[in-house]
Amino acid sequence: MIFSEPPPTQGDLHFRIFGIPVRVHPFFWLVSLIIALQGSSTPPAVVLSWNVAVVVSILIHELGHAFVQRHYGGQPRIVLHGMGGLAICGDCERSSRAQILISLAGPFAGFLFAALIAIAVALTGHQLGLFTATEPDIAFDPRGLRLLGVWLLWEAFPSPQVNELLSNLFFINILWGVINLLPIYPLDGGHVARELCLFGADSRTGMILSLRISIFTAIAMALVGLSSQSLFVVLMFGYFAYSSYKTLEAYRASLW
Ligand SMILES: [Zn+2]
Repeated sequence: MIFSEPPPTQGDLHFRIFGIPVRVHPFFWLVSLIIALQGSSTPPAVVLSWNVAVVVSILIHELGHAFVQRHYGGQPRIVLHGMGGLAICGDCERSSRAQILISLAGPFAGFLFAALIAIAVALTGHQLGLFTATEPDIAFDPRGLRLLGVWLLWEAFPSPQVNELLSNLFFINILWGVINLLPIYPLDGGHVARELCLFGADSRTGMILSLRISIFTAIAMALVGLSSQSLFVVLMFGYFAYSSYKTLEAYRASLW
C-alpha cells in the first residue's frame, strides 16, 4: 500500500534485511497495538501474536515490492509507518510493465508466504484444506479464514499460541493481499489499474478513468462493509473514495 512517507523521528528503528534499508516509525507499533487491543480483555499473548504477525507480514509484502524494484535497477528502501508500509524507490524503471510488476509483487509475496505456511502445516502431519461448508468441522481450528464463501481450515494444534499465530498470518497475508489488489488508490491494485488505464490513452484521460474506477470500487466496498456492519471497512473505503474524488476534482480543474 502507498501513503506518503512520514518525516524521520528520534524514535525510528533502523535495520537492513537482504541489503535493503528498513526504517520503522514509532506510529507503526502504536497503531498495531491499538488494533490488537480492540477487544476489552485481550490477553498479552494474543496482542504479541498479532504484532509479530503484522510486522512479519508487512515486511514480507514490502520486500516483495523492493525485490522487483531492485530487479528494475533501483536501490529501494522500506518504511513501516502508522498506516502500513512503503517500498520507496526513486531510481526505478518507470515503464508500465515495471510499475505493474512492482505493484503486484507485494500482495503476491504475501500469498507465497501463506502458501509456504500451509506447506509447513501439512508437513507437521496436520490436515489443511479449502472447504465450502459454512460450519467448520470440529477437528479443525475454529478460527479458519473465510473468503467469498470458501473456508481455509487447518487441524488445530495443541498449542493455542500456534493456532493464534497461524490464524493471524493467514488472515493478514491472504485477506489483506486480496484487498490490496482492488483497483482503488492508494492500494497496490489502484496503481496497477492506473498503468492499465494509461495504455492507449493520454495521461489525463487515463488518470481520470482510473480515479473513476477507484471511486466506484471504493464505494462498492464501503457498502459491503455497511451490509456486514463493519465500521472499520466503511471508514477505510469511505476515506479512499473521498480522497480519489478529491484527486479527480483536481484533475478536472487542471488544464493538463
Ligand atoms: Zn503494497
